[in-house]
Amino acid sequence: MRSSLLFIFLVLTTFVIKAQQPWRQGEMQVRVFIENQAQADFVMTNNINGETAGDFVRCYLIPDELSELQHQGIRCEVEVEDLNAKSAAMGERGVPNGYYTVEQLHAIADSLAVNFPDICQVVSMGIGTGMNELKALKISDNVHLDENEAEVLFDGGIHGDELGGPENLIRFARDLCYDYGYDANITELINNREIWIYYCVNPYGRKYMTRYNSFGVDLNRDCGYMWNGEGNSSGPFSQPETKAYRKLLMDNQFVIHCSYHSGTEYISFPWSYRSAPTRDAQHHLQLAQLYAQTSGYTNLPYGQGYNGMYAINGSTKDFGYGAMGSISWSVELSLSKQPPAAQIVPIYLKNKPSMLKMVEMAGYGIQGVVRDSITSKPIPALIFVDDFMCINNDPVVGDFHKFLPAGNYTLRIVAAGHQTRIFENVVVVDNQATTLDVALPEEAGRFAWRIISTYIPGNNPQDEGNTMGALGPPDEVRYSLGKNGYAIIDLCDTITQGDGPEVEVFENDNTPEGYMVMAGTTPDGPWILMGHGTGNEVFELEPTGLPQARYLKIKDSGVGQSQVPDAGFDLDAIGYTIRPPAIDSTATIEGYTYIDWVYLIEKAPGAEIRFGDQVVYSDDSAYYRIVADTGWVNLEVHWNMFGYLYYPVYLLPGQQLNLDLIMDWMESATWRTWHTELLLYPNPANGSVILKTGENEIPVSITICNVQGAVLDRIMHPKANAAGEIKLEVAHLRPGLYLVVSMDETGQTSIGRLVIAGN
Ligand SMILES: [Zn+2]
Repeated sequence: MRSSLLFIFLVLTTFVIKAQQPWRQGEMQVRVFIENQAQADFVMTNNINGETAGDFVRCYLIPDELSELQHQGIRCEVEVEDLNAKSAAMGERGVPNGYYTVEQLHAIADSLAVNFPDICQVVSMGIGTGMNELKALKISDNVHLDENEAEVLFDGGIHGDELGGPENLIRFARDLCYDYGYDANITELINNREIWIYYCVNPYGRKYMTRYNSFGVDLNRDCGYMWNGEGNSSGPFSQPETKAYRKLLMDNQFVIHCSYHSGTEYISFPWSYRSAPTRDAQHHLQLAQLYAQTSGYTNLPYGQGYNGMYAINGSTKDFGYGAMGSISWSVELSLSKQPPAAQIVPIYLKNKPSMLKMVEMAGYGIQGVVRDSITSKPIPALIFVDDFMCINNDPVVGDFHKFLPAGNYTLRIVAAGHQTRIFENVVVVDNQATTLDVALPEEAGRFAWRIISTYIPGNNPQDEGNTMGALGPPDEVRYSLGKNGYAIIDLCDTITQGDGPEVEVFENDNTPEGYMVMAGTTPDGPWILMGHGTGNEVFELEPTGLPQARYLKIKDSGVGQSQVPDAGFDLDAIGYTIRPPAIDSTATIEGYTYIDWVYLIEKAPGAEIRFGDQVVYSDDSAYYRIVADTGWVNLEVHWNMFGYLYYPVYLLPGQQLNLDLIMDWMESATWRTWHTELLLYPNPANGSVILKTGENEIPVSITICNVQGAVLDRIMHPKANAAGEIKLEVAHLRPGLYLVVSMDETGQTSIGRLVIAGN
């Protein structure tokens, strides 16, 4: 009820905000909490200026307006006393002078990829809230290939008002590119590592100088590992920014992951959700100490987040370590969230040597590739080293890397449909890599491969948090879900409906407990019930109606005590069987429909989606699913009289495409979207293609990307004929699907999908 009221309210006031900057005399930023219909009516009829953010409305009020609201009994909390004074201290758009804007950060990233195409690639991570593009940089030799090299991730700006991270990272990226071939150490590192720099995780927050994204969510509470609903997060990985983040971490195997914040000086490593140390506490401690000693800080303290800073659930570091097995931490760069501009470069220079050191250290310890012994193809595997947190190898190349100091270790390699192998007395020497390539013969048996999310209700401090106990074959080592808790698990393979059960859940103890099993085709569901079980049970896909699934959500039935050891169902293992999929010329598209109100993206239930001569509607949660024939499908999406989207998509047989449809608000005259269509013909093309943009639109650049968003070609200031047509040579592109992006002088982009035909 309340959200629909706020929604109408937003329509009335969205554009008022834009018109009234700079601020009125005495204007304040205030959180307004609307509790009932009368209060909503009052706010709406008085044309109060604001935007929804989580469970409150962020309003911009002068003192008279504030006292009127308070007089109505509406609860108000002042966030910023004097907006004029605050903005006087800031430059354009609230970003202090001397700091790069988001647009400038992207422009630097793009120019590095254009000028250093052999070692630097811009990878599109999708679209964040407020229609903000998300981009990461990959820096490595043979940058367009995923190679057998240790991977390192640096990210920053997840809290938009903490300016140190993005500034630090974009300078690091620039130095790596400029010094390649000149600085021996940097050249060596770029040749032998894959360095990922995700320089601005929350561009909305950066643009509007807020910690949160446009939904008012603290993204560093929204990650799935031991999620507990903090920071306005409505579910694990509920936000576009954290979904993109999860994808980056799951598509790669990062040995070391540094996430940059500002507001204090500290290296904060897992756990942040509980006080007990991690299995890899010594590894974290050793590397954090090395980071601090290598840095230019006089004293950079480090320690476990829970004890050294404060307790939080849903952080990036707990996900990076708990689910992915990385050395994962937050580095707090500076005492101030927005230090004076003169300090930006000195702060970067303090960190640069430590960052290079971490890139180097990521290659030391144990490494190898896991393959099938007959085909020699890389296979997905779980790698257990002693009792440390397990890791998954890289899903594409099959390589794994784990930082280890000198010692003798035992490795256990587990892969679906293959024999488990154990290697004892594997010797690791300090600052070197021991290589252990593994070839596994086939053997029956497939088991859960990795944890994506866990929900720990009430943050049960008695629980041992042994999520890795649920992975691999049954071994009587278990993960207790907690009372009403759940785990979302990636099976690694897609299971297909057929005769007999597809899934077997193991508890294997003397006190069988209850749970339910749900299946999904994406890590975010929608979750459809396979059945309820107690102790060991088998389950079928058939009751879900899903032809296929890859992800399972196992939820405790809610019986028994909550704040005790081993609370809830004790999950030992999940086995599954695969069947060859039926040959099918159709593909499915599913996702959610959204409406973009410029300052806010909201779900748009009941949107009408036309394709060919068919029509479907998104349901009351805005979810839709389409089964379409392969080839070009033109999606035309309408929502009431407000929203419109035209979206051409090319489908391959059997493809399951997860596609959120974000409609524009049509009333907006100043806003044109990403999804503006670009005309390309002939399409499929061979040799050359003609590009035509909309009327009065002169592209300043045309970029050709592969479907992963990697830039392959960029033409600056292309020449058009009198009809506005631009001829592009594409003879050098291999057959396949490409994205063509044209950008005009205002930075607005249009996108087309180009198919290069085979001969
Ligand atoms: Zn922060």
